[in-house]
Amino acid sequence: MSDMPPGLPPFMTSQAGGPPPMSSGGSFAQSLGAFGTMLKIQETISTRFPNSKVPWKDTRVFLRAHTIESIRSTPLYGFMMRLFKDVGLGDMQLVGYAPMHYVFAVPGCPVCNIYPALHNQKVCVATTDALHRFFKEDLELECIVEETECVKDSGTVCKFKVSLQPISAYQVLLDDNDRLILSGKRPPTMEQPELVSRVEVLTIYKLLDRGKLSDIGEAYMQFAGSMPVKEQIFDPPWKTAEELKSIISKHGTFGSAFGEMAAKVQSVQPSVPQVPSVPSTPPVSPSSAVPPAPSVQEQASKIKEEAKNAGSFAELIAKMKKQN
Ligand SMILES: [Zn+2]
Repeated sequence: MSDMPPGLPPFMTSQAGGPPPMSSGGSFAQSLGAFGTMLKIQETISTRFPNSKVPWKDTRVFLRAHTIESIRSTPLYGFMMRLFKDVGLGDMQLVGYAPMHYVFAVPGCPVCNIYPALHNQKVCVATTDALHRFFKEDLELECIVEETECVKDSGTVCKFKVSLQPISAYQVLLDDNDRLILSGKRPPTMEQPELVSRVEVLTIYKLLDRGKLSDIGEAYMQFAGSMPVKEQIFDPPWKTAEELKSIISKHGTFGSAFGEMAAKVQSVQPSVPQVPSVPSTPPVSPSSAVPPAPSVQEQASKIKEEAKNAGSFAELIAKMKKQN
Protein backbone atom coordinates (compact mmCIF):
# COMPACT_ATOMS: atom_id res chain seq x y z
CA MET A 1 0.00 0.00 0.00
CA SER A 2 1.34 3.39 -0.96
CA ASP A 3 1.61 6.00 1.73
CA MET A 4 -0.09 8.66 -0.31
CA PRO A 5 -3.19 8.40 -2.49
CA PRO A 6 -2.54 9.86 -6.00
CA GLY A 7 -3.87 13.19 -7.11
CA LEU A 8 -3.69 15.09 -3.86
CA PRO A 9 -2.94 18.82 -3.91
CA PRO A 10 0.82 19.42 -3.84
CA PHE A 11 1.06 20.73 -0.28
CA MET A 12 -0.01 17.38 1.10
CA THR A 13 2.90 15.57 -0.49
CA SER A 14 5.46 18.20 0.38
CA GLN A 15 8.05 17.15 2.93
CA ALA A 16 8.27 20.65 4.30
CA GLY A 17 5.33 22.23 6.05
CA GLY A 18 3.71 18.98 7.17
CA PRO A 19 2.16 18.89 10.60
CA PRO A 20 5.04 18.79 13.09
CA PRO A 21 6.31 16.90 14.91
CA MET A 22 4.33 13.74 14.29
CA SER A 23 5.04 13.69 10.54
CA SER A 24 8.81 13.51 10.82
CA GLY A 25 9.60 10.21 9.09
CA GLY A 26 6.03 8.93 9.29
CA SER A 27 3.44 9.09 6.58
CA PHE A 28 0.79 11.74 6.42
CA ALA A 29 -1.92 9.15 6.98
CA GLN A 30 -0.07 8.03 10.09
CA SER A 31 0.05 11.63 11.32
CA LEU A 32 -3.65 12.06 10.77
CA GLY A 33 -4.29 8.87 12.70
CA ALA A 34 -2.10 10.09 15.56
CA PHE A 35 -3.86 13.44 15.56
CA GLY A 36 -7.25 11.72 15.70
CA THR A 37 -6.16 9.48 18.57
CA MET A 38 -4.82 12.42 20.58
CA LEU A 39 -7.98 14.38 19.90
CA LYS A 40 -10.09 11.48 21.17
CA ILE A 41 -7.99 11.22 24.36
CA GLN A 42 -8.25 14.98 24.99
CA GLU A 43 -11.98 14.90 24.36
CA THR A 44 -12.54 12.03 26.79
CA ILE A 45 -10.43 13.80 29.43
CA SER A 46 -12.52 16.95 28.98
CA THR A 47 -15.69 14.94 29.53
CA ARG A 48 -14.56 12.70 32.37
CA PHE A 49 -12.25 14.83 34.54
CA PRO A 50 -14.81 17.53 35.49
CA ASN A 51 -17.03 14.74 36.89
CA SER A 52 -14.23 13.11 38.85
CA LYS A 53 -13.81 15.50 41.74
CA VAL A 54 -12.77 13.63 44.91
CA PRO A 55 -13.70 14.83 48.43
CA TRP A 56 -10.76 15.59 50.75
CA LYS A 57 -11.94 12.82 53.07
CA ASP A 58 -11.01 10.24 50.44
CA THR A 59 -7.87 12.01 49.24
CA ARG A 60 -6.73 11.94 52.89
CA VAL A 61 -6.91 8.16 52.93
CA PHE A 62 -4.65 8.17 49.84
CA LEU A 63 -2.23 10.73 51.31
CA ARG A 64 -2.02 8.90 54.64
CA ALA A 65 -1.13 5.60 53.00
CA HIS A 66 2.65 5.39 52.98
CA THR A 67 3.61 2.11 51.40
CA ILE A 68 3.13 1.26 47.73
CA GLU A 69 0.85 -1.65 48.67
CA SER A 70 -1.36 0.41 50.97
CA ILE A 71 -1.59 3.26 48.46
CA ARG A 72 -2.60 0.78 45.77
CA SER A 73 -5.42 -0.52 47.95
CA THR A 74 -7.08 2.87 48.49
CA PRO A 75 -10.38 3.49 46.66
CA LEU A 76 -8.96 6.70 45.16
CA TYR A 77 -6.04 4.82 43.60
CA GLY A 78 -8.38 2.23 42.06
CA PHE A 79 -10.61 4.96 40.72
CA MET A 80 -7.72 6.94 39.27
CA MET A 81 -6.21 3.92 37.48
CA ARG A 82 -9.60 3.02 35.95
CA LEU A 83 -10.13 6.63 34.89
CA PHE A 84 -6.73 6.88 33.17
CA LYS A 85 -7.33 3.59 31.40
CA ASP A 86 -10.82 4.68 30.32
CA VAL A 87 -9.59 7.90 28.75
CA GLY A 88 -7.01 5.96 26.72
CA LEU A 89 -3.80 6.56 28.65
CA GLY A 90 -3.11 2.88 29.34
CA ASP A 91 -2.55 0.63 32.35
CA MET A 92 -0.93 2.95 34.83
CA GLN A 93 0.45 1.73 38.13
CA LEU A 94 2.26 3.16 41.11
CA VAL A 95 5.87 1.94 41.14
CA GLY A 96 7.63 4.42 43.42
CA TYR A 97 6.75 6.41 46.50
CA ALA A 98 8.29 8.85 48.95
CA PRO A 99 6.19 11.25 51.04
CA MET A 100 4.66 13.76 48.59
CA HIS A 101 6.27 12.01 45.61
CA TYR A 102 4.53 9.38 43.51
CA VAL A 103 6.07 7.59 40.52
CA PHE A 104 3.61 6.05 38.08
CA ALA A 105 4.63 3.71 35.25
CA VAL A 106 2.66 2.85 32.12
CA PRO A 107 3.84 -0.45 30.58
CA GLY A 108 3.09 -0.55 26.85
CA CYS A 109 2.22 3.15 26.97
CA PRO A 110 -0.39 3.87 24.27
CA VAL A 111 0.69 7.51 23.98
CA CYS A 112 4.17 6.48 22.80
CA ASN A 113 2.62 4.17 20.23
CA ILE A 114 0.88 7.16 18.68
CA TYR A 115 4.26 8.49 17.55
CA PRO A 116 5.97 5.61 15.69
CA ALA A 117 8.47 7.94 14.04
CA LEU A 118 9.68 9.83 17.09
CA HIS A 119 12.80 8.78 18.96
CA ASN A 120 15.28 10.12 21.51
CA GLN A 121 12.79 12.32 23.30
CA LYS A 122 10.10 12.07 25.93
CA VAL A 123 6.84 12.28 24.05
CA CYS A 124 4.07 11.44 26.53
CA VAL A 125 3.00 15.01 27.21
CA ALA A 126 -0.66 13.94 27.16
CA THR A 127 -0.10 11.69 30.18
CA THR A 128 1.97 14.33 32.00
CA ASP A 129 -0.78 16.89 31.45
CA ALA A 130 -3.54 14.50 32.49
CA LEU A 131 -1.76 13.65 35.75
CA HIS A 132 -1.30 17.34 36.54
CA ARG A 133 -4.89 18.06 35.73
CA PHE A 134 -6.25 15.18 37.81
CA PHE A 135 -4.20 16.06 40.89
CA LYS A 136 -4.88 19.79 40.62
CA GLU A 137 -8.51 19.85 39.57
CA ASP A 138 -9.95 16.65 41.02
CA LEU A 139 -7.83 16.32 44.17
CA GLU A 140 -7.05 20.04 44.70
CA LEU A 141 -3.38 19.16 45.12
CA GLU A 142 -0.87 21.55 43.59
CA CYS A 143 1.99 19.60 42.06
CA ILE A 144 4.75 19.34 39.49
CA VAL A 145 4.59 16.43 37.05
CA GLU A 146 7.41 15.28 34.82
CA GLU A 147 7.98 12.29 32.58
CA THR A 148 11.20 10.87 34.01
CA GLU A 149 11.61 7.95 31.62
CA CYS A 150 10.10 7.34 28.19
CA VAL A 151 10.18 4.31 25.90
CA LYS A 152 10.87 6.77 23.07
CA ASP A 153 13.92 8.01 24.95
CA SER A 154 15.54 4.59 25.58
CA GLY A 155 13.52 3.98 28.76
CA THR A 156 12.20 0.50 29.49
CA VAL A 157 8.81 1.90 30.46
CA CYS A 158 7.26 5.39 30.56
CA LYS A 159 7.46 6.81 34.08
CA PHE A 160 5.89 9.94 35.51
CA LYS A 161 6.81 11.59 38.78
CA VAL A 162 4.21 13.63 40.63
CA SER A 163 5.67 15.92 43.33
CA LEU A 164 3.10 17.54 45.60
CA GLN A 165 3.51 21.10 46.77
CA PRO A 166 3.81 20.64 50.57
CA ILE A 167 1.49 23.43 51.75
CA SER A 168 -1.19 22.25 49.37
CA ALA A 169 -0.72 18.64 50.52
CA TYR A 170 -0.97 19.66 54.19
CA GLN A 171 -4.16 21.57 53.53
CA VAL A 172 -5.89 18.44 52.24
CA LEU A 173 -4.10 15.95 54.50
CA LEU A 174 -4.87 17.50 57.88
CA ASP A 175 -8.29 17.30 59.48
CA ASP A 176 -9.42 18.89 62.74
CA ASN A 177 -8.06 16.01 64.82
CA ASP A 178 -4.62 16.31 63.19
CA ARG A 179 -4.60 20.03 63.93
CA LEU A 180 -5.47 19.27 67.56
CA ILE A 181 -2.58 16.80 67.79
CA LEU A 182 -0.22 19.34 66.21
CA SER A 183 -1.26 21.91 68.77
CA GLY A 184 -0.31 19.43 71.49
CA LYS A 185 -3.80 18.24 72.45
CA ARG A 186 -5.15 14.75 72.36
CA PRO A 187 -8.51 14.52 70.55
CA PRO A 188 -10.92 13.61 73.39
CA THR A 189 -12.54 10.51 71.92
CA MET A 190 -9.60 9.10 70.03
CA GLU A 191 -8.39 5.57 70.82
CA GLN A 192 -4.68 4.92 71.32
CA PRO A 193 -4.08 2.93 68.06
CA GLU A 194 -5.55 5.73 65.95
CA LEU A 195 -3.53 8.35 67.81
CA VAL A 196 -0.35 6.33 67.21
CA SER A 197 -1.12 5.96 63.51
CA ARG A 198 -1.85 9.68 63.13
CA VAL A 199 1.37 10.63 64.90
CA GLU A 200 3.20 8.28 62.55
CA VAL A 201 1.70 9.96 59.47
CA LEU A 202 2.40 13.46 60.83
CA THR A 203 6.00 12.37 61.45
CA ILE A 204 6.35 10.93 57.94
CA TYR A 205 5.11 14.26 56.59
CA LYS A 206 7.71 16.04 58.76
CA LEU A 207 5.13 17.99 60.77
CA LEU A 208 6.16 16.18 63.94
CA ASP A 209 9.69 15.27 64.91
CA ARG A 210 10.13 12.76 67.77
CA GLY A 211 6.70 13.62 69.10
CA LYS A 212 7.23 17.39 68.98
CA LEU A 213 6.11 19.99 66.51
CA SER A 214 8.85 20.30 63.86
CA ASP A 215 10.01 23.53 62.23
CA ILE A 216 7.68 22.82 59.30
CA GLY A 217 4.85 22.01 61.69
CA GLU A 218 5.44 25.23 63.58
CA ALA A 219 5.46 27.35 60.42
CA TYR A 220 2.37 25.61 59.12
CA MET A 221 0.41 25.90 62.36
CA GLN A 222 1.27 29.57 62.65
CA PHE A 223 -0.81 30.18 59.54
CA ALA A 224 -3.31 27.32 59.61
CA GLY A 225 -5.33 29.21 62.24
CA SER A 226 -5.87 32.23 60.03
CA MET A 227 -6.63 30.09 57.00
CA PRO A 228 -10.27 29.60 56.06
CA VAL A 229 -10.62 25.88 55.36
CA LYS A 230 -13.10 25.38 52.58
CA GLU A 231 -13.56 21.66 52.75
CA GLN A 232 -16.60 20.54 50.84
CA ILE A 233 -18.47 17.40 51.71
CA PHE A 234 -19.80 15.30 48.85
CA ASP A 235 -19.77 11.70 47.64
CA PRO A 236 -16.67 10.37 45.85
CA PRO A 237 -17.14 9.84 42.11
CA TRP A 238 -16.85 6.07 42.46
CA LYS A 239 -19.81 5.86 44.87
CA THR A 240 -22.50 5.73 42.19
CA ALA A 241 -20.78 2.88 40.35
CA GLU A 242 -20.40 0.87 43.54
CA GLU A 243 -24.01 1.43 44.54
CA LEU A 244 -25.25 0.38 41.13
CA LYS A 245 -23.18 -2.79 41.31
CA SER A 246 -24.60 -3.72 44.69
CA ILE A 247 -28.16 -2.94 43.61
CA ILE A 248 -27.80 -5.13 40.52
CA SER A 249 -26.45 -8.03 42.55
CA LYS A 250 -29.30 -7.63 45.04
CA HIS A 251 -32.04 -7.68 42.45
CA GLY A 252 -32.61 -10.75 40.33
CA THR A 253 -33.43 -8.93 37.12
CA PHE A 254 -32.35 -5.75 35.44
CA GLY A 255 -35.94 -4.56 35.35
CA SER A 256 -36.44 -4.70 39.09
CA ALA A 257 -33.06 -3.02 39.71
CA PHE A 258 -33.78 -0.19 37.32
CA GLY A 259 -36.19 1.78 39.50
CA GLU A 260 -33.85 1.85 42.47
CA MET A 261 -30.89 2.75 40.25
CA ALA A 262 -32.69 5.66 38.66
CA ALA A 263 -33.52 7.03 42.09
CA LYS A 264 -29.90 6.71 43.25
CA VAL A 265 -28.44 8.36 40.16
CA GLN A 266 -30.78 11.30 40.52
CA SER A 267 -29.94 11.75 44.18
CA VAL A 268 -26.18 11.54 43.65
CA GLN A 269 -25.56 13.74 40.64
CA PRO A 270 -26.15 17.30 41.83
CA SER A 271 -23.84 16.96 44.83
CA VAL A 272 -20.51 17.58 43.05
CA PRO A 273 -19.20 21.10 43.63
CA GLN A 274 -17.17 22.84 40.95
CA VAL A 275 -15.34 25.45 42.97
CA PRO A 276 -11.64 24.76 43.47
CA SER A 277 -10.41 26.11 46.78
CA VAL A 278 -6.66 26.11 46.15
CA PRO A 279 -5.12 28.96 44.16
CA SER A 280 -3.50 28.04 40.87
CA THR A 281 0.19 27.49 40.15
CA PRO A 282 2.16 27.72 36.92
CA PRO A 283 1.41 24.87 34.50
CA VAL A 284 3.19 21.53 34.25
CA SER A 285 6.73 21.32 32.99
CA PRO A 286 6.74 18.38 30.66
CA SER A 287 10.48 18.32 30.01
CA SER A 288 13.20 16.76 32.08
CA ALA A 289 14.81 20.18 32.46
CA VAL A 290 12.79 20.73 35.66
CA PRO A 291 15.11 20.95 38.65
CA PRO A 292 14.48 18.28 41.28
CA ALA A 293 12.00 19.32 43.95
CA PRO A 294 13.73 20.73 47.02
CA SER A 295 14.01 18.31 49.91
CA VAL A 296 11.50 18.51 52.73
CA GLN A 297 14.21 19.90 55.01
CA GLU A 298 14.99 22.69 52.55
CA GLN A 299 11.29 23.40 52.26
CA ALA A 300 11.05 23.51 56.05
CA SER A 301 13.65 26.19 56.52
CA LYS A 302 12.17 28.15 53.62
CA ILE A 303 8.67 27.95 55.04
CA LYS A 304 9.92 29.02 58.43
CA GLU A 305 11.88 31.91 56.96
CA GLU A 306 8.94 33.00 54.80
CA ALA A 307 6.52 32.58 57.67
CA LYS A 308 8.34 35.28 59.60
CA ASN A 309 7.95 37.73 56.76
CA ALA A 310 4.50 36.87 55.44
CA GLY A 311 1.45 38.69 56.68
CA SER A 312 -1.07 36.00 55.85
CA PHE A 313 -1.38 32.40 54.85
CA ALA A 314 -2.31 33.41 51.29
CA GLU A 315 0.83 35.51 51.09
CA LEU A 316 2.88 32.58 52.36
CA ILE A 317 1.44 30.30 49.70
CA ALA A 318 2.21 32.90 47.03
CA LYS A 319 5.81 33.14 48.22
CA MET A 320 6.22 29.37 48.36
CA LYS A 321 4.87 29.07 44.84
CA LYS A 322 7.41 31.48 43.46
CA GLN A 323 10.12 29.22 44.85
CA ASN A 324 8.69 26.23 43.04
ZN1 LIG B 1 6.57 7.99 27.08
